[in-house]
Amino acid sequence: MADSIVPNMLDKDMMNDIIPLIPQNDIDLILNTRVNKLEGKDYVEKIILSEGKSISFKDVIEVKILGGRVIKGLVVFSVGVKPDITLLKDSGIEIGRGGIIINSRMEANFKDVYVCGDCIYFKSGITDKVTQGRLTANAAPMAKTLGRCLAG
Ligand SMILES: Cc1cc2nc3c(=O)[nH]c(=O)nc-3n(C[C@H](O)[C@H](O)[C@H](O)COP(=O)(O)OP(=O)(O)OC[C@H]3O[C@@H](n4cnc5c(N)ncnc54)[C@H](O)[C@@H]3O)c2cc1C
Repeated sequence: MADSIVPNMLDKDMMNDIIPLIPQNDIDLILNTRVNKLEGKDYVEKIILSEGKSISFKDVIEVKILGGRVIKGLVVFSVGVKPDITLLKDSGIEIGRGGIIINSRMEANFKDVYVCGDCIYFKSGITDKVTQGRLTANAAPMAKTLGRCLAG
């Protein structure tokens, strides 16, 4: 859907070096295109994309996967994660593009409300810009920071 691959990890100049390598590995890369619909009866036969494009699986082969199961027309969505913070709708808690906004003490804009983990949007110590870090590698130090702050 985006105009690049792994945009949260790679700058455009690095990405521009990698993109030409992808077709060389027999992978079709389609950018700037959204998946709108999957069509088919017993298995996915066609993927309807935006921009009037589609991918047909009509002559798709059967593949035996681990455990002996036979699959046909397999589609894998690997599209990232987004926190479900509908619970906080109308709460007055400040929400950014990617989650609950916190300060460096893991506090939301409400007294005694502390937040950490995948659901937050925080200021990067590297770029000073607001960012997200949906990894245990971020969640665990956040939890430690929160614990230290609560303990004074
Ligand atoms: C498939 C997969 C692979 C991953 N691999 C890696 C990896 O290799 N390395 C890495 O660093 N990170 C990885 N991650 C990311 C990592 O799992 C998360 O970043 C991490 O678990 C975030 O921790 P968290 O405590 O914020 O959220 P979670 O671990 O999601 O915990 C949130 C908890 O809140 C509970 N909850 C939600 N709503 C409510 C509610 N209303 N009331 C009460 N409880 C509620 C949920 O049940 C859940 O137990 C992976 C994630 C996925 C999905």
